[in-house]
Amino acid sequence: MADKKIFDVAVVGSGPGGYVAAIKIAQLGKTVALIEKEKLGGTCLNVGCIPTKTLLAGAAVLHQVKRAADFGITTGPIAVQYDKMKARKDQIVAKIRSGLEGLLKSNKITVIRGSAQFESPRDLKVIGLDNVFIHAEKIILATGSVPLDIAAFPCDHERILNSTSMLELTHVPKSLAIVGGGYIGCEFASLFAELGCKVTVLEALPTILAAQGTNIAQFMTKALTNRGIELRTNVKVQAIANQKSHVTVTLASGESLDAELALVAVGRKVYTEGLHLEKAGIPLTDKQWIATNERMETEVSGIYAIGDVTGQWMLAHVASHQGIVAAQNACGHEASMHYEAIPAVVFTSPEIAMVGLSAEQAQQKGYSIAQGMLPFQALGKAQATAETEGFVQVISDKKTGQVLGATAIGHEASNLIAEMALAIQNELTLESILETIHAHPTVAEAWHEAAAIANETPINFPPKRGAS
Ligand code: FAD
Repeated sequence: MADKKIFDVAVVGSGPGGYVAAIKIAQLGKTVALIEKEKLGGTCLNVGCIPTKTLLAGAAVLHQVKRAADFGITTGPIAVQYDKMKARKDQIVAKIRSGLEGLLKSNKITVIRGSAQFESPRDLKVIGLDNVFIHAEKIILATGSVPLDIAAFPCDHERILNSTSMLELTHVPKSLAIVGGGYIGCEFASLFAELGCKVTVLEALPTILAAQGTNIAQFMTKALTNRGIELRTNVKVQAIANQKSHVTVTLASGESLDAELALVAVGRKVYTEGLHLEKAGIPLTDKQWIATNERMETEVSGIYAIGDVTGQWMLAHVASHQGIVAAQNACGHEASMHYEAIPAVVFTSPEIAMVGLSAEQAQQKGYSIAQGMLPFQALGKAQATAETEGFVQVISDKKTGQVLGATAIGHEASNLIAEMALAIQNELTLESILETIHAHPTVAEAWHEAAAIANETPINFPPKRGAS
């Protein structure tokens, strides 16, 4: 082991939490080491957000080609070359990773390749490509999460896959049983159903996408079923057997079903393995997370934790924002996290996007609410692009008009939600949205009309029955 290197701040993990924190620290004029044991970019870049969305972009192109005739366009035979889709995904991930390497270099961040473990609250030992001791006055932990394995049917990564090994497939399976109807399971279901695979989703809860709330779950149950996905809820998977040519999934009811492959998407667990947190005096919560205060500082002064390892949000953009907050505090500035305006997106077809409070949450908090819901059917742009499925909904405080929450389901919902995140973050009102001129014809106009509906002054939508 070489001698000790000294930095102002050491960041462990280079996912969207860690690398963003490292750049912010460098901007604030401090020396920073970014320690990574695997590929730069973490889960998000290598086996999460970017690869899944790249594959989903391929499925979206296929969807458009399949319905080209609806737009008066004749195409030839359509063939999916999934090995090429996968190769494109790998190229894009590699390109972004190389961009990230350049970004870190240009910010003069020292990247250390290896697995970090605590020796004391201020000292880390790194073992791997680089073998080094590091002393840092402040340490930020951004070690992320990994797929949850189930002891009764562990992934063999041959026929029983998790989200990571699923991304290595080079062909479209004829049939796929997905255990878990959360957002990761449903995104893979959308992807492979579009590509022609017979997909069955097996969910133990009474509904898929339970975390997204009842209304969304109901809408998506219909939408995904219409796309040929079989959704089975209230079913408990007991065993999955690799039969060499296929898998047999056995349910608690005794029923079994065969599929070419199984994807286990039952959640993720916080990753703190090998960190030796006890040597720094950092406890884990009963859920095995690292707890922090709103400044992202752990129970141990000078040690911060951000991103998935803090257990609660498990979203890349939350990890990044927490990274900025932790970096500022670690560099002697004051910053805290606020969670009122966090957009959350599910990249299924149709997409789901939400921010702020749902109607039920707002009512539980004692608000008397006004709601405005506009179906995309009512929009010229949606008709022009034949993307009429779905709606936007705005929830506001009846007394003040303040926007409290918003939901969008449909084409480009992921981009649409940004306007409402800005509105909620800045405590804007229905009036602010109504005073904002939205370009025509766009899908973003939906927010303007939904705000008008909530305000009971719709222009392009009939007034409420009974209204004068
Ligand atoms: P991670 O990205 O997990 O990075 C942690 C890094 O720390 C890893 O690179 C790991 O190797 C490294 N590390 C761990 N321990 C050590 C150690 N001791 N020493 C050195 N290095 C270490 N989120 C979204 O917001 N939008 C999406 O569309 C989305 N899609 C997803 C799709 C899938 C299939 C999955 C699995 C996740 C998706 N997520 C999405 C979630 C998102 O990827 C995570 O929330 C995000 O990556 C968390 O960032 P992080 O920085 O906390 O940790």
